[in-house]
Amino acid sequence: MHLAARLQNLPPYLFARIEEKIARAKEQGEKLISLGIGDPDSPTPQTVIAELERAAGDPANHRYPTSAGMLEFRQAVVSWHRERYGVELDPRSEVVTLLGSKEGIAHISMCYVDPGDINLVPDPSYPVYKIGTILAGGEPYAMPLLAGNDFWPDFSLIPGEVARKAKILFLNYPNNPTAAVASRERFQEAVAFARFYDLIICHDAAYTELTYDCYRAPSFLEVPGAREVGIEFGSLSKPYNMTGWRLGWAVGNAEIIKALTTLKSNIDSGVFQAVQYAGIKALTAAQENIEKLRQVYQQRRDILVDGLNSLGWHLDKPKGTFYVWAPVPRGYTSGQFAEEVLEKAGVIITPGNEYGACGEGYFRASLTIGEDLLRESLERLQNAFGHLDVARPG
Ligand SMILES: *Cc1c(COP(=O)(O)O)cnc(C)c1O
Repeated sequence: MHLAARLQNLPPYLFARIEEKIARAKEQGEKLISLGIGDPDSPTPQTVIAELERAAGDPANHRYPTSAGMLEFRQAVVSWHRERYGVELDPRSEVVTLLGSKEGIAHISMCYVDPGDINLVPDPSYPVYKIGTILAGGEPYAMPLLAGNDFWPDFSLIPGEVARKAKILFLNYPNNPTAAVASRERFQEAVAFARFYDLIICHDAAYTELTYDCYRAPSFLEVPGAREVGIEFGSLSKPYNMTGWRLGWAVGNAEIIKALTTLKSNIDSGVFQAVQYAGIKALTAAQENIEKLRQVYQQRRDILVDGLNSLGWHLDKPKGTFYVWAPVPRGYTSGQFAEEVLEKAGVIITPGNEYGACGEGYFRASLTIGEDLLRESLERLQNAFGHLDVARPG
């Protein structure tokens, strides 16, 4: 059997060695603490579960849904954007329902990328922008996200011939994995760049609701001109603890939404309507869940960042996401440090270069475990390494 090039061309998995060590340690009954997983540890709000149970019993929901999603769900998405950001959207032409935002992010390249075309992909980043580009036959062009530029791409470093060949510019703020946030002015800069080179902007807004210290992240669509050049991906996964439910949306430019809907209508037949009813419930009746989650993650963030700083780091507290992005101590690569932390402390962290070459020199720790385990992981680091020599940022 011969694998198609699009699968053969996927980047190799770099961390098989660490995965093996994790598996072996688990077999030997070691109690590992994982800071590696970006999946909320608390359950979906009860009102949302009850709505699924109700809607699952209604035979009207047992039939094929539509690819674009129920109009009622799209209307709930529109109301949520109006209340949250003051952004007006047309539920019929500017919203499409997704089986989780990952599905739309993976498929959007198939709408606009022909073999040989380029997409501009942040490095480090969530892997799906790059993988979706490759699966569509395109070539990802890495835009380094560097600490010196607040983990925002420097568009002036992208050669003109690359930008002219590029189709899609992917952005994601608050950012996974760097936990950086972006201002409206930054988004305006991206819109101007996209207009100049006739690019489509796809903004991944998975973490806009998970922000701290009174900071509230903007929607890309708040910026003038954004709707002319792009769309924004939204997700119920992180704000409502619904990663398992597979429900999200894309909103914005009607032409792009139509293209994505057309593609999807030929691949999937939409989201189970009972899940969409549950999603409406989340968007309209579970807002207090978000406030609670912000408090939980903010407290965990403070424990982890203060703890790492007492071990030698010099970290600022991130304003968004449930990640801490930290440099590895002097003398280590990302992979070496992650392996040693696993071996000596029984703690799993994610090596930064898993998210792209520019993630080398960093690791990502996730705040999706309880305070007691976070404290224990810090104690284990202290016992295994004592004080560490970590460079100051910048
Ligand atoms: C978790 C996450 C998503 C959400 O994916 P869903 O498919 O909606 O669950 C999207 N983008 C990033 C960067 C994420 O970390």
